[in-house]
Amino acid sequence: MEMSDIPPQRVMRLNRKPICKCRYVLYWMQQCQRADWNHALEYAVEQAELLRQPILVGFALDEKYPDANLRHFAFMLEGLREIRQTLEERGIGMVVKRGQPPVVALELARDASLVVCDRGFLRHQKDWRHEVANKAEVDVVQVESDTVVPVETASDKAEVAARTLRPKIRSCLDEYLRRPHARLPKVDSLDMGNGGVNINDIPALLADLKVDRTVAPVSAFRGGITNARRRLEAFIAEALTGYAEQRSRPERDQVSHLSPYLHFGQISPLEIASRILDTDAGSEEDCTAFLDQLIVRRELAYNFVHFNPDYDRYQGLPAWARASLEQHAGDPRPEVYGPEQLEAADTRDPYWNAAMLEMKHTGYMHNSMRMYWGKKILEWSENPEHAYYTILRLNNRYFLDGRDPTSYANVGWIFGLHDRPWPERPVFGNVRAMSAGGLKRKSNIEAYVARVREMVEGGG
Ligand SMILES: Cc1cc2nc3c(=O)[nH]c(=O)nc-3n(C[C@H](O)[C@H](O)[C@H](O)COP(=O)(O)OP(=O)(O)OC[C@H]3O[C@@H](n4cnc5c(N)ncnc54)[C@H](O)[C@@H]3O)c2cc1C
Repeated sequence: MEMSDIPPQRVMRLNRKPICKCRYVLYWMQQCQRADWNHALEYAVEQAELLRQPILVGFALDEKYPDANLRHFAFMLEGLREIRQTLEERGIGMVVKRGQPPVVALELARDASLVVCDRGFLRHQKDWRHEVANKAEVDVVQVESDTVVPVETASDKAEVAARTLRPKIRSCLDEYLRRPHARLPKVDSLDMGNGGVNINDIPALLADLKVDRTVAPVSAFRGGITNARRRLEAFIAEALTGYAEQRSRPERDQVSHLSPYLHFGQISPLEIASRILDTDAGSEEDCTAFLDQLIVRRELAYNFVHFNPDYDRYQGLPAWARASLEQHAGDPRPEVYGPEQLEAADTRDPYWNAAMLEMKHTGYMHNSMRMYWGKKILEWSENPEHAYYTILRLNNRYFLDGRDPTSYANVGWIFGLHDRPWPERPVFGNVRAMSAGGLKRKSNIEAYVARVREMVEGGG
């Protein structure tokens, strides 16, 4: 393997096999679904140049992808269509093939001199990459590009809270705030057809896919880098000023709405951070508050998922919190709702119902309402373990940004993760509680309810 100008901390050889002289260098794209600010792609282009070979980008469209439904596929395909166009303009071929990711990657790897893949931190993402590394005949190199500071560089252990990770990230941030250099491939791309998937006709493709169709696509969010950048620029122009103070007010919605794009890797956190650092908009306090969410909070979630093998299980929550919740498991609940009533937004709490409707109709929910929404499910469930799996299921089913490291860390936060013990309360024990009174004090919650009603009635 030759020298590269991608930071070595982002690069990991997953096996020790030779680089062969075959037909192309394969970039197996799966997590970082973008043609720009993508270290894995740029690493593959660089290696292809050194080997004097074309580069091929391969993507597996997996109808059985864990917990994915029609809503997720529609958004993802819009992103993929744009990627293929952008890569084509740069002289890079891309094939999209139906099938399980490791199966598709191994099939394409048969003619590859070297396989480059991006990095995912969830269990199935790690397993797939290891399977490809074990079974491929050639070198498989993983390149991390979805965090600003590579996870193991930031910390070598599970962090207790944002306050412990923050100084570690800050100490090396400048080193990683660099755009990966994008060069044009030196060798013409191969004509490999479209891999059997016509990504240009998304309605026909969606109609043909055998996926879970119980959750409809949303019109509130359209996928792809152009839409992501539009959101980013609108946020900078209209909402960055005052973000530090207003971000917790759900009725104002003064946030970036970038989480769905980040989840699918359609925009790089590095691109967002660089743009925020470059702009004159917003005060220093606003920019710092935003970057803290984007980098420290988000990468705390990656730290959690990477270092906790039980990141998606009740037993992965902090022991103090579980012990306290167990002690209060027999406390009478003010209300108990089953999953059907919750999913139907049919509780006696109009604020909670509005949040559930926002989630179902837009695939998104304001952060303050996510906190309230989760805390109430904990309060209204038969027991905390039941509450945990109910929250996780709804989160991953309806949110466009669900099924992400950030999902698992924040659902965990409802149950005390990355938080501290609070004075003891019924049902919650020492885990932080939230009340409707708190929402009323801190925001104009009636205006939020009215906004959601408008969105739902307007089909948003
Ligand atoms: C119960 C619960 C469930 C959640 N589920 C998810 C989820 O499935 N997917 C998801 O991406 N986020 C989740 N969050 C975190 C947070 O609510 C969202 O990331 C945020 O609301 C996304 O909106 P935005 O992009 O407009 O945020 P902005 O305020 O504009 O923030 C910019 C970016 O910072 C990051 N960020 C913001 N808040 C957090 C946070 N608390 N933790 C980690 N990163 C953060 C996100 O990447 C976000 O896109 C959840 C929070 C809670 C309390």
